[in-house]
Amino acid sequence: MDIRKSFLDYFQSKGHKLIPSSPLVPDDPTLMFTNAGMVQFKNIFTGEAPIPNPPRATSSQTCLRAGGKHNDLDNVGYTARHHTLFEMLGNFSFADYFKEEAIAYAWEFVTDEKYLDLPVEKIWVTVHDSDDEAYDIWKKYISEDRIMRFGDKDNFWQMGDTGPCGPCSEIFYDQGEEHFHSEEDIMGGEGDRFLEIWNLVFMQYERDEKGTLNPLPKPSIDTGMGLERVVAIKEGVFNNYHSSLFMPFLEKIGELVGKPYDFDAPNSASYRVIADHLRSVSFLLAQGVNFDKEGRGYVLRRIMRRAIRHGYLLGLREPFMYKLVDTLVDLMGKQYDYLVSRAEAIKTSMKMEEERFFETIEAGIKLFNEELKNTQDVFNGEVAFKLYDTFGFPLDLTEDMLREKNIRLDIDAFNKKMEAQKAQSKANWKGTGDAATTGDFKLLKEAFNTNEFVGYETQEVTTKVL
Ligand code: ATP
Ligand code: MG
Ligand code: MG
Ligand code: MG
Repeated sequence: MDIRKSFLDYFQSKGHKLIPSSPLVPDDPTLMFTNAGMVQFKNIFTGEAPIPNPPRATSSQTCLRAGGKHNDLDNVGYTARHHTLFEMLGNFSFADYFKEEAIAYAWEFVTDEKYLDLPVEKIWVTVHDSDDEAYDIWKKYISEDRIMRFGDKDNFWQMGDTGPCGPCSEIFYDQGEEHFHSEEDIMGGEGDRFLEIWNLVFMQYERDEKGTLNPLPKPSIDTGMGLERVVAIKEGVFNNYHSSLFMPFLEKIGELVGKPYDFDAPNSASYRVIADHLRSVSFLLAQGVNFDKEGRGYVLRRIMRRAIRHGYLLGLREPFMYKLVDTLVDLMGKQYDYLVSRAEAIKTSMKMEEERFFETIEAGIKLFNEELKNTQDVFNGEVAFKLYDTFGFPLDLTEDMLREKNIRLDIDAFNKKMEAQKAQSKANWKGTGDAATTGDFKLLKEAFNTNEFVGYETQEVTTKVL
């Protein structure tokens, strides 16, 4: 089943205009990367831009959650459902329909045999605990014991620290009792048994810099459904990485390593991390972001170096990521033709970055392991700084390595060293990264001076599933 096409066709048949995916680097200084389908419509929601005609849109948006408010970098490899780069299918109402229709559309698409055809008895939904209206609408479709109420943490969605937001209602798919392993695998837990597939956001507020919620001129609808999760469900696999969207990467990595992917092997997460990061790194490079010491380019480097370290763990000692680009082009080149036209450039930049890091990774890991031997619970922050400064280990890479060993980092000591060095270098990448400046966007535009990206945006959107 071609899920992307089915979704976009369904909403077009309900009067929504098909809008192409916008770039991963948004024209928005408050956001590091496009982290949801609504990002390109932000100004319409807030009333800054006029309401388009028709006041309904649908899209399949590539999203990146590796920094900022919604950061899934640390989940990748550990959960069955998170990627750094994923596609979000969405339908949007700009001061047009509200809860009643949003729920009716979602229900029809999820359960009707013409569309997703998911068994009703496996569906659960959540609403914000204050939202009786949504609760009463859901009652018409689903038995009350499968409607749950949660607070702000789960059922209040916001794009970032500022911007449009509102209570939300989410649809979950129960993957079955056999996936109950811990208390996290109940509804509302962080486990993967109850898989969140679709979030319906009732956009009603805009949060300002002081944190105050101001009502929007008119309530709107913003929804997001993760394509990779739905593909996994329809293909009958529990883990997103075992669907046809990811298996070819795992197989290819197995070839390069000389050991086929085996989910039960202790190193299987490394395969999945590499597959995930290959996608996000390639898309960022294809869209004009380059490896850098700061800003978005530094996030790109952090993702890449994490992937390289996982390759190292699997025994690889020379550049390998660039060898996976052809697999990406096979899988996604039809939908994203700029991946095809930029494949060689992507490989070249990747390989250079790999060569650079492979020069120091061995010595860095040796230093790390030696220090580990002297470590009880807290890793020396000055050594972490040396890893960063001399061996090119981003802080979050060292933290990731320590997390595997259940060891904390003396972050204060690291920061002290960093502060001292900051006087000379402008290492402004610390923190969440939300403070990225518009400078990046301008650079990106310059990098795209041929309007290539715009060309892509105006092209007809092919809706073939990968
Ligand atoms: P989760 O609780 O699983 O982390 P979320 O609540 O953070 O998901 P939303 O912000 O509500 O996700 O995004 C809307 C939808 O996008 C989700 O319901 C899910 O289907 C999909 N999605 C979100 N994050 C990811 C991700 N990292 N990888 C793949 N799909 C995702
Ligand atoms: Mg999340
Ligand atoms: Mg959630
Ligand atoms: Mg959610």
